[in-house]
Amino acid sequence: MNLHQRERLREEAEARGQAALEQALTLAFWDALERGPLPPMAALEAAARTVGTLYRQIASLHGPAPRCGCGWQPEPDEDLIRLEAMLAAALIERPRPSLADLPVAGRA
Ligand SMILES: [Zn+2]
Repeated sequence: MNLHQRERLREEAEARGQAALEQALTLAFWDALERGPLPPMAALEAAARTVGTLYRQIASLHGPAPRCGCGWQPEPDEDLIRLEAMLAAALIERPRPSLADLPVAGRA
C-alpha cells in the first residue's frame, strides 16, 4: 500500500468517524428537545456552548504536557476560525440525506 492509498484510507476513516459523531450529537440534541422543548435559539446556544466546552476539555489533554500522544497542538485562535467556518458552511449547506430525516422526529 503506497502513501497515497494510506492517506485516502485515513481520510475515509476520519469521515466515517465524523459522520458517526454528527449522528450521535444530532440524535442527542433532538432527544433532549423531545424531553423538554426549548426556544430554538436557546437550544442552539446550548449546543454551541457545549462545542466550546468540548474544545477546552480536549485541548487541555494536548497542552504543554500532552497526555494523548497524537501530536495535535491546540491553536485556539486558528481553531476558532476553523470552527466558525464549519458553522457558517453548515448554515447554508443542504442537509445530507442521512441526517435530513432526523428533525422530523423532534420539535425545536
Ligand atoms: Zn490527541
